[in-house]
Amino acid sequence: MRQQSLAATALWIESRVKVLNRSKAVSPLRSATALQISMKLANKLAFITGGGRGIGRAIAIAFAREGASVAVAARTLKQVKAVAKEVTGEFGVDCLPLKLDVRQKDWVGEAFDAFRLHFGRGPDIVVNNAGVAKSEMFLKTDEPFWEFHLNTNLGGTYRCTHAALPGMIERGWGRVINIASIAGKTGAPYISAYSPSKHEVLRLTRSLALEVAAQGITVNAICPGYVDTDMTSQGIENIVAKTGKSAKQALKMLERMSPQNRLVTAEEVAAVAVLLASEDGRGINGQAINVDGGTVLF
Ligand code: NDP
Repeated sequence: MRQQSLAATALWIESRVKVLNRSKAVSPLRSATALQISMKLANKLAFITGGGRGIGRAIAIAFAREGASVAVAARTLKQVKAVAKEVTGEFGVDCLPLKLDVRQKDWVGEAFDAFRLHFGRGPDIVVNNAGVAKSEMFLKTDEPFWEFHLNTNLGGTYRCTHAALPGMIERGWGRVINIASIAGKTGAPYISAYSPSKHEVLRLTRSLALEVAAQGITVNAICPGYVDTDMTSQGIENIVAKTGKSAKQALKMLERMSPQNRLVTAEEVAAVAVLLASEDGRGINGQAINVDGGTVLF
């Protein structure tokens, strides 16, 4: 009897080991496949300008988390390299750092060539995020100041979209996401160059959205309020220098511009970019979505 029960126990253990081994062999594969399916941007390629810090970095991370391979491009190579290392290390996706000045047409062409060489095709998603914002009294501004804002914020958006669009049309799928600003919907003192540059980004967004709507491509803009990034820190330094307020007072002033009494985070902007880039966002086209806690209601 005892021998029989020992044999039965041995058999039972053997069968459990087999089941366990089988589940070990199958489960990682199954879970990896399930994970890929649940990823909103699996197999997508994205080109993100200004990806070295702030909102661009947050978008690169958010896209990679959803399975996209990305290129991050900006003038400071050290920063884009650091983001690429971070993204690849954390999510295991391919991330290409590119040195780029979006004001230079030839440079943009070379960056997109490098992208195609590296990934084998052009991007499915382009995020025009590179931007500059300096505040100054209108009469103290000059032509180079005006040109600096228009050429970076609007010209850069034009050039990178122009480089990315042919491949999107060819493949019948694409997403253009422009990081504009609520300053592109309203005006404010001391941003008489920045504000028009962002207004024009919205006009470009709407016109192009209608032009390519039937080709599987959407074109949208995100309009953040004040975001907790270096750009806002520089704005605070500027207020301190010009008004004599403390940094704390200057920050409070910016926070109070939002009914939520706070700055927006770069991650909140990135979450909207993921929606626009994904299949879930295919019905959203030609829009300018505010991420500002309700500061601007149109
Ligand atoms: P940051 O200053 O933190 O980052 C800007 C990024 O753009 C950097 O990576 C910078 O890199 C890059 N960049 C600037 N000029 C060029 C250029 N000529 N060519 C290539 N890259 C360039 O700003 P944010 O992350 O806050 O801003 C990102 C976008 O969001 C901008 O378009 C901005 O206007 C917009 N926005 C920001 C708001 C805010 O409160 N911060 C509010 C509303 C909109 P590098 O200098 O190395 O080139």
